[in-house]
Amino acid sequence: MAEPFVALFFVVDGQILLHKCRLENAEHYAEMRNYPRSHMDVWERHYKLKYNKDFDFYPRGRVIYDMRKDEFKIFYDTCCAKQAFKIRMMLGNRTCILKDDSNYTCSICRNHIKNEE
Ligand SMILES: [Zn+2]
Repeated sequence: MAEPFVALFFVVDGQILLHKCRLENAEHYAEMRNYPRSHMDVWERHYKLKYNKDFDFYPRGRVIYDMRKDEFKIFYDTCCAKQAFKIRMMLGNRTCILKDDSNYTCSICRNHIKNEE
């Protein structure tokens, strides 16, 4: 089975841009293990020049690990549910909860919400 990991990701034109690290290199916050960089950091370092958009333009999400429950959680923008599920598959048969999270809302979803108001 593949190595467990924590991660953050972006989804650009259906493609997953995944940045992950092993659990022992994760940031500790109480019983939670988190990828140690922010979406903004990773975006500015790797993608800003290429895509010429802000870090919150595309759908994105995060994989965290709860040590106490021995459980992974994937938080993601609803419009990249398919890609979040692919990432979930990379964790094999480990316990993993998928949860859409408005913190990761992309520009398309934001405009959509605006239009509905
Ligand atoms: Zn979205």
